[in-house]
Amino acid sequence: MTDSSAIHSKLKEFFGYDSFKGNQKAIIDNLLEGKNSFVLMPTGGGKSLCYQLPALLMEGTAIVISPLISLMKNQVDAIRGFVSGNEGIAHFLNSSLNKAAISAVRQDLVTGVTRLLYVAPESLTKDENIALLKEIKISFYAVDEAHCISEWGHDFRPEYRRIREIISVIGNAPVIALTATATPKVQHDILKNLGIEDATVFKSSFNRPNLYYEVREKVDPEKQIVKYIKQNPGKSGIIYCLSRKKVEELADLLCLNGIKALPYHAGLDAKTRADNQDRFLMEDVDVIVATIAFGMGIDKPDVRFVIHYDIPKSLEGYYQETGRAGRDGQDGQCITFYSYKDIQKLEKFMQGKQVAEQEIGQQLLNETIAYAETSDCRRKVLLNYFGEDYPEDNCGACDNCLYPKKKVDRSKEMCLLIDLVESLPEHFKMEHLAAILAGNSNSLIKSYHHDQLPFFGAGKEHDAKFWCMLMHQGLILHFIYKEIEKFGLIHVTDSGRGFRAAPSPLMLPDATKVEAGSGDDDDDAAMESVAKSGSAGGDQILLSMLKDLRRDMSRKLHLQPWIIFSDPSLADMSIMYPITLEELRRCQGVGAGKAQKFGEEFIKLIAKYVEENEIERPEDFVLKAPPKKSANKIFIIQSIDRRMELEDIAAAKDLDMDELISEIEAIVSAGAKLDINYYIEENLDEDVVDEIYAYFRDEAASDSVEEAVAALGGDFTEEEIRLVRIKFLCEVAN
Ligand code: ADP
Ligand code: MG
Ligand code: ZN
Repeated sequence: MTDSSAIHSKLKEFFGYDSFKGNQKAIIDNLLEGKNSFVLMPTGGGKSLCYQLPALLMEGTAIVISPLISLMKNQVDAIRGFVSGNEGIAHFLNSSLNKAAISAVRQDLVTGVTRLLYVAPESLTKDENIALLKEIKISFYAVDEAHCISEWGHDFRPEYRRIREIISVIGNAPVIALTATATPKVQHDILKNLGIEDATVFKSSFNRPNLYYEVREKVDPEKQIVKYIKQNPGKSGIIYCLSRKKVEELADLLCLNGIKALPYHAGLDAKTRADNQDRFLMEDVDVIVATIAFGMGIDKPDVRFVIHYDIPKSLEGYYQETGRAGRDGQDGQCITFYSYKDIQKLEKFMQGKQVAEQEIGQQLLNETIAYAETSDCRRKVLLNYFGEDYPEDNCGACDNCLYPKKKVDRSKEMCLLIDLVESLPEHFKMEHLAAILAGNSNSLIKSYHHDQLPFFGAGKEHDAKFWCMLMHQGLILHFIYKEIEKFGLIHVTDSGRGFRAAPSPLMLPDATKVEAGSGDDDDDAAMESVAKSGSAGGDQILLSMLKDLRRDMSRKLHLQPWIIFSDPSLADMSIMYPITLEELRRCQGVGAGKAQKFGEEFIKLIAKYVEENEIERPEDFVLKAPPKKSANKIFIIQSIDRRMELEDIAAAKDLDMDELISEIEAIVSAGAKLDINYYIEENLDEDVVDEIYAYFRDEAASDSVEEAVAALGGDFTEEEIRLVRIKFLCEVAN
């Protein structure tokens, strides 16, 4: 029965495939010969078939140990689908079954109908199940997701470590262990723990040539993500976050920005989770925002991007998660956001744990840091991590290969750092050392009199962040190490001393300048700087044309130019090129009223300019943020609408009059129209109002309150001036 043609015909008969994928055939042969096997195959490689087909061919029942209940059910359903008319051919045994279901399984097992029995490791260790399995003939044991055995793996499951022990009780049979991710260390651990050091190892290349890898600096990640998704409309993607809270927030934010997204994490009830997963598989939503709880066994072939909002805790987890992109062989983009702050957070989490666990966690994390901070080909680093050589110099599909980073010799700095660490016998943490070199004093530094050291400020041409980055590089290069048991105190290693004694050039990525991965972050940065400083940063030619237009209009309308549009508004226009009133309103200080009243000519001019100069306008979006604590503002607007006395509004919100007026000014300067005439008529002299109003209309060179106070002499109170100014802005400018 085990001759080659028989196997092929069963492949076709049961599974409908014409040929084997990769080394499936060799693996199956090995198992049929009764040998132990260890299978390393990337996600989507077709591991299941390696044990499903032999199970159907061999006598007895194959025990498949698999970590997830949902996964088992899917697989059992799939097999029953392949082998129609024989429901009992595959079963699963786990905590979700009731008594009746269990006795049905038992029936099929003892009568020899069942060829495949899926069990969770927790169920395998139960006495009654062991007793049952002792009664039947076992063809072989398959341990799927075998990396769960190893503490060095990214989802270690303690019950997995008892498998060998149970197998010896139930009865010996060949073992096949399968996983998609295992470093040499994990691989060794699996073989040893399962007692199959003699296993034939089948290792496929882990390279996924269709995946593109990129690590981005974590600056405004929400905005970058929304922008990315908007540039890839209709594509399926997964975004991983480390916390449930972030998952919820990000899913909400995406929805708010018109992206069809749903959350997925272990804190949701089972039904919601299943629904959300289904809606993603059925393409009812494009994006799933998830914790790592999502994805094991998900077989959606056309996931086009996987984004890591937070840096993953290990490269194995990372590789598994990114591996869910592009399973159909088409493009997949894997983008990770990295900030050193996140690493510090993860390190803090670990501090509560046992030392051994901390050490493992720290080492895994160090590998992740090395990957994130490398300027080498990311594919090479990843494959290296899994014990595979990648021969090419340029993979052509990672950010470092496409946009090489500038490198600078940092040997001088490394020596300075080593000297400092060696000079302090009591040892200190990274941040402390960085502060000394950068010359930043703080109470801890003062208490040690480290601000008196010759090293204090010895590296002040760089900031503390630079020195922390350099220390990471030192850790990666093993020049220094961090003592885990003692809260991360830094020591110099022998190889660090060796380097110090005979320094050689140390070309490291230029950390002082982060080069934008895809170049499109530049316009964001420009936009932000305009928003902050109000200074121009856009298209200078357009800007001067806009200013001319404003001047002409101001003459025609007998209005001060600033009343029409402020300088920051024009600057924004020269960056964003709005060509509709809707878009115009996205510019700073332009409300609906202003856009309506003055906008038409401006967008006409911009549209013409854009067309004549063939300008590519920046991505058409502005990140909509969920309402912040604007409850006060809404209350104020509503109360003014209801003509409440300003004193009463202030009292209700526990503000003084000055604070309330500031709030109103903020609302008005954002472009809203408020009618406070009812209050002004009651409380201010008509002459006073007229005179201040006339000043703003005819004399003022800007809307500055200070200038107004100075220009109007001591005749009016500041409060009067501010109130009339609000009236004026609402009536004329907004
Ligand atoms: P893994 O467990 O390695 O991630 P699976 O066993 O889930 O992968 O298989 C991945 C996909 O490949 C499935 O859709 C499966 O049906 C398909 N597949 C497996 N073997 C073959 C084959 N020989 N020919 C065609 N498709 C196959
Ligand atoms: Mg699998
Ligand atoms: Zn590369």
